[in-house]
Amino acid sequence: MEYDVLVIGAGAAGLMTAIVAGRRGRRVLVVDHANRAGKKILMSGGGRCNFTNTNTTPANFLSANRHFCKSALARYTPWDFIAMVDRHKIKWHEKSPGQLFCDESSKLIVRMLLDECASAGVRVETGCAVSRLRATDTGFGADTALGHVRCQSLVVATGGLSIPSLGATGFGYEIARQFGHAVLPVRAGLVPLTLSGKHQERFDGLSGVALPVEARVGEASFRDAMLFTHRGLSGPSILQVSSYWEPGADLRLDLLPGIDAGDALLAGRAERPAAELKTVLSGLLPRRLAERLCEIWLQNRPMRQFRDAELREIGAQLADWPVVASGTEGYRTAEVTLGGVDTDEVSSSTMMSRRQPGLYFVGEVLDVTGHLGGYNFQWAWASGNAAGQAV
Ligand SMILES: Cc1cc2nc3c(=O)[nH]c(=O)nc-3n(C[C@H](O)[C@H](O)[C@H](O)COP(=O)(O)OP(=O)(O)OC[C@H]3O[C@@H](n4cnc5c(N)ncnc54)[C@H](O)[C@@H]3O)c2cc1C
Repeated sequence: MEYDVLVIGAGAAGLMTAIVAGRRGRRVLVVDHANRAGKKILMSGGGRCNFTNTNTTPANFLSANRHFCKSALARYTPWDFIAMVDRHKIKWHEKSPGQLFCDESSKLIVRMLLDECASAGVRVETGCAVSRLRATDTGFGADTALGHVRCQSLVVATGGLSIPSLGATGFGYEIARQFGHAVLPVRAGLVPLTLSGKHQERFDGLSGVALPVEARVGEASFRDAMLFTHRGLSGPSILQVSSYWEPGADLRLDLLPGIDAGDALLAGRAERPAAELKTVLSGLLPRRLAERLCEIWLQNRPMRQFRDAELREIGAQLADWPVVASGTEGYRTAEVTLGGVDTDEVSSSTMMSRRQPGLYFVGEVLDVTGHLGGYNFQWAWASGNAAGQAV
């Protein structure tokens, strides 16, 4: 079998590459070992696919080279993808500022991508593993479950390691290494954090309690909801900050973001001098958490017995609460994989390897990882578009 372009991986980035290349008249074959295309898209956004974020900027991405994503993102904006969604009459809504979701189902996004593939003449084959790849004089040869495929351009769109049950493998990294590329260390991102030992015991029984916090690791900080789980901490603020967290990192929580906690406690004392600290705190925080803080860390007594300085000190603690996380829930639940194919050896305008002409990397397999909120799909669309114009 002879194709101009072989795309390995029928996920977001691979399908977008194929659509753009197919529209240019390239003969494109997309293969995926999973039994259906776009499984992560189907799962995403709680089944409603947060397909882009209109506030996308390069600052929403982590990468060893912060500049790498700029060119592709500038040439394919969220509005370009929205135009495709609108053309297919898929209804969508904005949830948090900038975050766009389907009104009905993620299935519509996969359907749209497959329809676009069909009208661009792209062949998509699922349940098709690739066993061996090699460079030839005219491009590449691939042994696949369909038979031997020859192609001029080979696109690696195999994604990251997150959620192995959805078909994730490290195959893309193996291909990169086979052709001499460096692969930067990978780890789970956008993932719940776990607590252990006394750090877990102290929050025991709080599972299900949620509150807004500002979670901070180093320079990174995210203000959003946090959720106590049986194993540790989750919720958007924790998922976001998890991408910056590594074992031993100093994780801090502002438990009353946007409020001067010292002022709030002083006001609480003025209003209810006979009330205990835990009662006043229960007006500011979820009751179970307020009680636990007062059982373990803070001295609980009537408010009138606290001096100003003591209440200010408690306020400062609440605004900078240290949490010792022991790890993450790992790839089983992570939304993304940090690290991956080193972008230094890939062209930022075409996604082509600088080591092996005709070899391209798109989407999450590259060392480009977005924040939570539709940015990862925007990277998949944008990098796929960049490669699709060049393959
Ligand atoms: C549960 C969940 C929810 C998410 N929700 C959102 C969201 O709402 N918004 C957002 O922006 N991002 C979300 N993400 C992240 C987003 O799904 C990914 O960043 C994005 O799918 C990456 O696109 P990709 O094409 O690079 O990789 P993928 O979409 O992972 O596609 C890779 C494809 O390669 C195939 N493949 C892998 N190995 C092989 C192999 N050896 N041979 C053949 N094929 C192979 C896989 O089967 C897969 O189909 C979510 C992720 C998860 C896990």
